[in-house]
Amino acid sequence: SEALGTPRIAILSEVVRNQIAAGEVIERPSSVVRELLDNAIDAGASEITIDLEEGGMRLVRITDNGIGMGPEDLELAFQAHATSKLRTPDDLDHIASLGFRGEALASMASVARCKIRSRPRGAATGAEIIEEGGKRGRVTPTGMPEGTVIEVRDLFFNTPARRRFLKRDRTELARCMAIIQRVALAHPADENGQGGVGFVVNHGGKRTFDVESNMDLLGRIRRIFGDELASNLEPVEKTGGKSRVWGYVAPPRFARRDGQRQIWFLNGRPLNDKVLTRVLKDAYRGVLVEGPKPVAFLHLSLDPETVDVNVHPAKSEVRLRDERALFGFLVNALKEAVLRTDMATPGDTML
Ligand code: ADP
Ligand code: MG
Repeated sequence: SEALGTPRIAILSEVVRNQIAAGEVIERPSSVVRELLDNAIDAGASEITIDLEEGGMRLVRITDNGIGMGPEDLELAFQAHATSKLRTPDDLDHIASLGFRGEALASMASVARCKIRSRPRGAATGAEIIEEGGKRGRVTPTGMPEGTVIEVRDLFFNTPARRRFLKRDRTELARCMAIIQRVALAHPADENGQGGVGFVVNHGGKRTFDVESNMDLLGRIRRIFGDELASNLEPVEKTGGKSRVWGYVAPPRFARRDGQRQIWFLNGRPLNDKVLTRVLKDAYRGVLVEGPKPVAFLHLSLDPETVDVNVHPAKSEVRLRDERALFGFLVNALKEAVLRTDMATPGDTML
């Protein structure tokens, strides 16, 4: 046994720290997709291409036309707690970006083979850096168009225990697509066709999905979920003080057991919050029996000062100030729209 007082505590190496952080941030290819899409959106991209191989396990590559990164930024991009989105503790109270922890790229680089190529808008040339399993490369110049390309290959190649939790290509691809479609729904064009983000997805070199940047929310719902649902939706639009809710609710007969089509965005960020499930339940009370979950696609704009997003690493849950007032406002806004939906049941239309 060891001598009394022999030191046993040591600070973990950066590689190990990042691998531990990766366990929280990066669970599977779809988490890579989510983080890279957030970064592209934060960079102001209006066109994003996602290339996947083997459900994203072999490759996730995201190309964007955002502001890009210069060589000094590339030098830091893979380091933990390196971010351009947060400077002071006060900034934590009014975060407008999707990311802010500076953990995603560092986590990916510790468990995959990563490469960033980037050329800032207006710069004469681009640069690239490679980091594989936490081993850093040097920044070297490269020719490329403006924007950023981030490649994540062979996820968990150096952590076989985690790789074993991944499923078949098809299952992982479906999860990636669910994330991509949600992000596409989060960034529709406005009524003038402006301000939207376009997406193209290729899997194994074949185009599997796209939405044009000028498509509005309804067009995107139609592209993703089909005409039957899209043409039966009822619009929602209500402002109260600094809060606004807009989007669509479906007639009760479209309700599903799985709740997969209750999609909420808060200030452009996908949101899973139990409160919102309850809002929908209340709004459909009386027109829908307990059980199946109503279908709705809703954007919520709230004063960022009243929202705390620093609650969960996956960032799909938030803490809302004055939740009760918000609840009432939302239930009223949705109820009006729900009552306008076509209440016919499939049986009625047979008559
Ligand atoms: P976070 O998004 O929390 O800041 P990340 O690890 O995801 O942390 O990214 C680190 C930094 O790299 C970002 O703050 C941003 O400055 C830069 N970055 C990442 N992806 C892009 C991109 N696609 N375009 C421009 N800059 C990017
Ligand atoms: Mg990020």
